[in-house]
Amino acid sequence: AAKMNAITNIVHYNDKLGEKIRRQRKLVRDLEVALKVKSLNLFYQPQIDLKSGQIIGYEALARWNHPTLGSIRPDEFIMLAEQSGLIHELGKWAIFQACSDVTHLPDGSCIAVNISAIQLLDKSLPHIIREALVQNKLAAERLELEITETALIQENNTAMELMHKIKSLGVKIALDDFGTGYASFEVLKTFPFDKIKLDRSFVDDMTSSYESRAIVDASIQLAKNLNISILVEGVEDQAQLNELRKMGSDEAQGYYIGRPVSLADLSSDHLTTQEKLEKTAS
Ligand code: C2E
Ligand code: MG
Ligand code: MG
Ligand code: MG
Repeated sequence: AAKMNAITNIVHYNDKLGEKIRRQRKLVRDLEVALKVKSLNLFYQPQIDLKSGQIIGYEALARWNHPTLGSIRPDEFIMLAEQSGLIHELGKWAIFQACSDVTHLPDGSCIAVNISAIQLLDKSLPHIIREALVQNKLAAERLELEITETALIQENNTAMELMHKIKSLGVKIALDDFGTGYASFEVLKTFPFDKIKLDRSFVDDMTSSYESRAIVDASIQLAKNLNISILVEGVEDQAQLNELRKMGSDEAQGYYIGRPVSLADLSSDHLTTQEKLEKTAS
């Protein structure tokens, strides 16, 4: 009976696995179409300067509303895009779309675009970025790229060369999800980042966990000592915002400040955010 059970489990497991693989294959095929017909969207989430309380930029976050399956999480479709090679196409679209959208954003605000580390192996990336800036008459200082450390260590020659080329255009580069990788310090030591984005997992329980608080505090000091800026992600309430301001973080981002919204919803949302911040600053 135990053996039968084991076999049933294996069959069941294989079924589940088959289902998962079928879904992934379908999603990759559909993603390719979505990129062709340009049906992906970028949502925007505000980033604020903690000293002035002003919105200084927006992070562009990809959204995919699948025609039959509904909204697919970026974590899922970005991973599939990376595995299938579609990430180059997706990444190029995101850069061009964001650089065009930023011209509709409040004057002077910056735009942060997520880049997969895989894109840093593509030698045409600096050219793509320059094209997007030129086409939209956008000053390079208004564009920032966010990169997570995954895969940065392997094959670091190309990545390093491209990072320097991109920076020489005047575009800034931030290390995203800082603290969640295996080699955060090594990456920070090796690559020329302009900014750290501290992962939201540390802010989450900052007010209750001594350890998390210590890590947030140390990361802020680390950025200061490295002479680069720091943004803390995932701010979900007023207490966290006040705490971060006291600790001396440069910038913050999170649901409390503003959720990611479509470009169309941004102007009204922007006003609500600004009002809320002005009320709480005093
Ligand atoms: P990320 O770049 O670290 O983006 C932050 C994620 O945290 C976003 O999830 C955002 O909606 C969410 N978030 C922001 N504030 C809060 C908060 O206060 N609380 C909580 N619980 N979550 C918050 P999202 O949009 O699902 O994106 C997930 C990841 O997908 C991103 O992480 C990024 O790595 C990747 N991604 C999204 N768009 C793109 C893209 O165009 N290209 C690439 N390569 N990756 C992308
Ligand atoms: Mg990001
Ligand atoms: Mg992040
Ligand atoms: Mg992330």
